[in-house]
Amino acid sequence: MTVCGGWSLVRETDRTREAITMFCRSWACADCMPYRLASLKRLARSGQPSTFLTLTVNPLRGQSPENRAQELTDALKIMMKRARRKWTKAPIEYLAVFEETKQGEPHLHLLMRAPFVPQKWLSEQMNELIEAPIVDIRHVHAAAGAARYVAKYVAKGPKGFGSLKRYWCTPKYDLDETRKAEKKARGKSGWMIYKDDLETIWQDWARAGFAIDLEEENCVLAGRTEQDVDRLRGHRNLEKKQRHRA
Ligand SMILES: [Zn+2]
Repeated sequence: MTVCGGWSLVRETDRTREAITMFCRSWACADCMPYRLASLKRLARSGQPSTFLTLTVNPLRGQSPENRAQELTDALKIMMKRARRKWTKAPIEYLAVFEETKQGEPHLHLLMRAPFVPQKWLSEQMNELIEAPIVDIRHVHAAAGAARYVAKYVAKGPKGFGSLKRYWCTPKYDLDETRKAEKKARGKSGWMIYKDDLETIWQDWARAGFAIDLEEENCVLAGRTEQDVDRLRGHRNLEKKQRHRA
């Protein structure tokens, strides 16, 4: 995508202007990949998983790894439906991440917050559904374990097989309420899309007589006076601090 870095988000008040670079957020983009990976790691931890589960495929089935990845996705859905019917006491929430093995085959790594599900049952299900009985299950101790797990399996970024999602989670996996609320708020906080890069935008503002602050990477602050810029900067820092504390 060519949008990466070429467009900006702009927010204006009477006395101030803010512009931030828009990124394409593609896994294939060298600029965006580290951010996506960091946010996947945060998501993994915030689900407070109790179990890691690895599901495999049988390379003798289907025509291609993409094919087997689709089968694996479908099998997971069916298996989870059955598990929820069988273990009704506690909900099963999970984050699923695709990894490509050295042989080019899909593995599905799951971080689960779930009641105890025996390995034997899981293996039987996967054998019946897609002839892939190799299932690895292990318990994880809190957030540090989740972080290590994600670092190990998705260090290069999760793999996209065909048009399948690289990772997904159940709606209630994420327990970080603050982040969810923030996401919602950002959607309606008055930002506009400009089809210009930051430099074009701030040079326009400078020509219009605004004071410009280029202190931050991928972000420009501007104000009618230096004091306006300072106030805006202070406001931004406060927002950031609140985010870190949360
Ligand atoms: Zn990008």
